[in-house]
Amino acid sequence: MFEYTSIKQYQLDLAQGKTSCTDAVRHYLSRIDQSKHLNAFVHVFADEALKTAKELDKKRGPAKATGQLHGVVIAIKDVICYKDHPVSAASGILKNFVSIFSATAVQKLLDEEAIIIGICNCDEFAMGSTNENSVYGKVLNAADESRVPGGSSGGSAVAVQAGLCMSSLGSDTGGSVRQPADFCGIVGLKPGYGRISRYGLIAYASSFDQIGIFANNVEDAGRMLEVIAGPDEYDSTVSQRPVERYSGSLTANKKFRFAYFKETLEHPSLDHEIGNEIKKISEQLKNQGHEVSGLSFEYLDYIVPAYYILTTAEASSNLSRYDGVRYGYRSSTPSTDLTGFYKHNRTEGFGKEVKRRIMLGTFVLSTGYYDAYFTKAQKVRRKLVEKTDQVFKDFDFILMPTSPSVAFKIGEKADDPIAMYLADIYTVFANLTGIPGISLPLFKHSNGMPFGLQLMAKQFNELSLLQASEQLMQLSERTPLKKK
Ligand code: GLN
Repeated sequence: MFEYTSIKQYQLDLAQGKTSCTDAVRHYLSRIDQSKHLNAFVHVFADEALKTAKELDKKRGPAKATGQLHGVVIAIKDVICYKDHPVSAASGILKNFVSIFSATAVQKLLDEEAIIIGICNCDEFAMGSTNENSVYGKVLNAADESRVPGGSSGGSAVAVQAGLCMSSLGSDTGGSVRQPADFCGIVGLKPGYGRISRYGLIAYASSFDQIGIFANNVEDAGRMLEVIAGPDEYDSTVSQRPVERYSGSLTANKKFRFAYFKETLEHPSLDHEIGNEIKKISEQLKNQGHEVSGLSFEYLDYIVPAYYILTTAEASSNLSRYDGVRYGYRSSTPSTDLTGFYKHNRTEGFGKEVKRRIMLGTFVLSTGYYDAYFTKAQKVRRKLVEKTDQVFKDFDFILMPTSPSVAFKIGEKADDPIAMYLADIYTVFANLTGIPGISLPLFKHSNGMPFGLQLMAKQFNELSLLQASEQLMQLSERTPLKKK
């Protein structure tokens, strides 16, 4: 029987002949088959994955070098291009579209001998917090199938949660990796803006979007990051900074300075148990010799509005390319003029939430309202960046809940977009400021659902973020933080 604990252990087992890539792929294909009702995958590349696995197995030998992700079975979100494979952003407007190139992150995975087993379901154009806005239908949370997995990368989260692959890629514009990781009880890492190339990632809001990683443990997330991060001639917003070796340097037993914003723990929308667990862990960190201080943060109620103004504005511009002229859905309704042709294609091709955001974004960018909304939101963003710089002069990390509640029931917020948006209160901060953030699966609610702790670091401090994460995970193993 194939069993997975970590990339490191798996590769050790491969080297010692205890398992093979073929065993691993067979195992995941059968798991995917048994878990079809979760709807986590929209495409599974069974034959291709098996073929790659067999080639890798043949290639391995005592004196032969292997790639850093040799045989690692990975799934990717349906917004990341993989040459000659379908990509649709879970939208009717891109149904049957096939990628003509691979995203840089995907190419890097392939170069290091990873096996891509399939494409995961998500919210349409990564807009959503529950994975309910998908042309392929909703995804179920494997911890409680009456609940959502979170979104927008819900399928990628469930793929790791339910043991359908070893690790997966998602994208995080306002929390879409950290929040589903929190809802599903796994590790979700959003690196800082500019750490991973966005080339080949279908754009939602380009100044916020980052590819992120779902993993079973912090070390796996580090291993994935060190492979996919780094400069790329196809994306000028990626940093030239060299990539650190995250996975090999996690055990440093350092003492850190943690800050939390008092308002975040006193917010009326926060579930009491979540607030209490975070207060408790802060105490434990202090007992371990770390510094933990509460700061005041006067902008909490402005961050969600600023996020939704700026991202919808960027989305309205980014999504204008889907007009049915060159590719994508084309309506069969006859049109008499070009505007009518666009209208039919876009009205029929896009789902409700995407249309709502295009309209919101077009509104906030319109001449009469630009200064009142867009300019103001940009000013809020600037203030947040200044505040963040200030905090990181004295502290290493900011601690926060990942989400104000555990996974919602399916349909619970579907008819109330404002309530849905407000639930992003703790995740959008890292995207507005461009800093890296991670959600760590540390807790269990009395209702049985998992929830996480969010940790954020200064830009390009992914290494210390992962080191502190590893310490927190170990702390929780030594002194069980989880309610059984
Ligand atoms: N829930 C947020 C939104 O709907 C986050 C989406 C994301 O990170 N892609 O915009």
